[in-house]
Amino acid sequence: MLLYNTLTKGIERFVPIKKGHVGMYCCGPTVYDFAHIGNLRTYICEDLLKRTLKYDGYEVTHVMNITDVGHLTSDADTGLDKIEKSAEEQKKSAWEISKMYTDFFLQDIKKLNIESPTILCKATDNINEMIILVKRLEEKGFTYRIDDGIYYDTSKFKDYGKLAGMSFDELNKSLKAGARVEFNPQKRNITDFALWKFSPKDKKRQMEWPSPWGVGFPGWHIECSAMSMKYLGEHFDIHCGGVDHIPIHHTNEIAQSEGATGKKFVNYWFHVEFLLVNGRKMSKSLKNFYTLRDLEKMGFDPLSFRLMVIDSHYRDKIDFTLEKLKKYEKTLNDIDISIKTMDILPLKEEKRDDLRAIEKSFKKAINDDLDTHSALIELFKVIGIINSHIKKYSISKENRDKIHELIKKMNSVFGVLQDYSIPEEVLDLAKRRASARERKDWKESDELRRKIKESGFDIIDVKDAYVIVKHRNFGETNGKSIDIGHNTDKE
Ligand SMILES: [Zn+2]
Repeated sequence: MLLYNTLTKGIERFVPIKKGHVGMYCCGPTVYDFAHIGNLRTYICEDLLKRTLKYDGYEVTHVMNITDVGHLTSDADTGLDKIEKSAEEQKKSAWEISKMYTDFFLQDIKKLNIESPTILCKATDNINEMIILVKRLEEKGFTYRIDDGIYYDTSKFKDYGKLAGMSFDELNKSLKAGARVEFNPQKRNITDFALWKFSPKDKKRQMEWPSPWGVGFPGWHIECSAMSMKYLGEHFDIHCGGVDHIPIHHTNEIAQSEGATGKKFVNYWFHVEFLLVNGRKMSKSLKNFYTLRDLEKMGFDPLSFRLMVIDSHYRDKIDFTLEKLKKYEKTLNDIDISIKTMDILPLKEEKRDDLRAIEKSFKKAINDDLDTHSALIELFKVIGIINSHIKKYSISKENRDKIHELIKKMNSVFGVLQDYSIPEEVLDLAKRRASARERKDWKESDELRRKIKESGFDIIDVKDAYVIVKHRNFGETNGKSIDIGHNTDKE
């Protein structure tokens, strides 16, 4: 597999540390609010990478963290803890907030058919590992103490900023320019960051732990270094995240891990680009902020969003619009109808379909730095073959089986086609509708179609037969189209 590596800024051939096995770490959500669709795009792309590695025959150990403490409202290690802030606003405990949004996150990834990580680890379950890592850094002389915590002296780490492709000075300058808050004047360098923060003297935090330096809580960056190395070893294959993690979070992870161990931390850094909404960066203040729940409320199938993500390259920005999402939902529905229609075609001996070239191109595309857009074109070619059989209104059993087999392989990477069962009562309504049609009782037949739709399915007539598919709204609820400008009023 060819993969772009942010560390070397080039496409490289992927070679695992241990033959046949891949260790992969993905930065997970900070569970103080719902994930937005930009975050979810990153998790979908990471899932596509993992599924491709599995398709190639690797065994993948996929670790994801849940940040349930220590992520402050400002990346400059100032401001409030996002979870404690959200808890105050929602009049809940910090523990309730993190549990609630972790559950919501797990529901979201399930709806998007993202495979569960092999290991899902919470920061609050690994405080001891973080303390041990900070101690190792302290022993090696990387740390210093100021009023509000123990900090990492980034000037002591050789090549700090190599991931961002910047020198130490350039990174300091760029952080200073981009900062919206005052830096703590006791910090030796702007890029220095907290490893352990002390609890405020005047206020008891809900989440705090004793440590050799005083009661407090870990910094956000240390948790990912500590947990990735705990589960994958001090040197592992792939580390993933959004591009926004490159200059600070991942740069600091490298400084911590390599500072402590004295050896290379990660071989390949995989970063997913931003998702824009109507051409602008998504943010709550711009009110162009969508969660998966918003899309569902508007009547979209979450898998339409997954299809949209698959159709673009992970290193390109996506410009999300509801109009585009409607088109993807329509495509998803068409694919569903074609496959189901193939299954009811009368069987007839015929020439064998040659699918080998399609499979080969599919495999080449996904292994070419995850070119899922080109890989998807190969799926559409298969659907084209199905549609030509539908036109002839016949297929051989052999061709049908081979098409199913290929689609199954492709979908093991795409994860966009879902098996769903059709309830007995819906099958029964469909049978009754077929006999009403035979009697030319159109009123009864329409009424039964309506009932089938109410149960969440659509019936599609194909010559003298029919297929039943999941009902999709294409972003329409109650027959009314949703405004493209609609946004949730958060914050
Ligand atoms: Zn992380």
